[in-house]
This record gives sequence, C-alpha cells and structure tokens, in this order.
Amino acid sequence: MALRKENPIQLGDKVELVRRQLLEQRESLSLGLRVATAEFLNDESLYTDAIDQASADIDKSFAMQLKNRDRDTLIQVDGALRRIEAGDFGICERCEDEISEARIKAFPFTTLCIDCKAELESEEHRFPGRNSN
Ligand SMILES: [Zn+2]
Repeated sequence: MALRKENPIQLGDKVELVRRQLLEQRESLSLGLRVATAEFLNDESLYTDAIDQASADIDKSFAMQLKNRDRDTLIQVDGALRRIEAGDFGICERCEDEISEARIKAFPFTTLCIDCKAELESEEHRFPGRNSN
C-alpha cells in the first residue's frame, strides 16, 4: 500500500462530517452487538427444556442473522473509516476517479463510482453467481 506522505491528510468538512457519522454508527452498532450477544447468552440459559428447544433455535438463528448483518455493516463502517484515514475515501477503487458526492451521501460505504458499479452489475448479470467483491 502506497503512503502519500507528501500530502498530509487534510480532511474536508464533508469528509469530517461523514467520519463523525461513521464513528457514531460504529459506536451504536458495537453497542447493539454487545447487547445482542448478552441477550443471546441469557436466552440460551432460559431454554433448558427440550420442548422449548425448537423455538429457541428459531430465536437463535434470527438473532444470529441480525448479528451477522450488523457485523457486516460494522466491517463496512471500519473500512470507510480506514479509507478516510488513508485519504482514499471518495475515490473509486476500480478507476480511481472521484465518487460523486450524491453517491457518497446515499452510500457512505461505497468504494466504487456509479459507472464502475453499473459495469460490475451488468457483468454479474452476464455471469450470474460470480462475486464482484
Ligand atoms: Zn470507477
């Protein structure tokens, strides 16, 4: 990874705003994950009897799904924060063009400009099942 030492990071106001939003989101997500984990552990101790086991399993898988989704979001938030720190935020990782501000606002975690995203999506249609990430 190339370090841009000659350009010390100068965060614009907009990036700083996004950064603060991301930090808040990360805070509430990790709090949510901690609560979910605590509830999950408590739940498990409640369901000791075999009759309740089936519904316990359903609850568990639902909780796991929520947790997985939150964890994915958390990973994306962390990735975006790392890109901000590296000065790569808002730069398309495919063509290295700037990602439009409207797109950043709508999808703060995106690493692709709208053109590359559209291109990758049409490739996915041509080759279903291929993972573009
Ligand atoms: Zn691009």
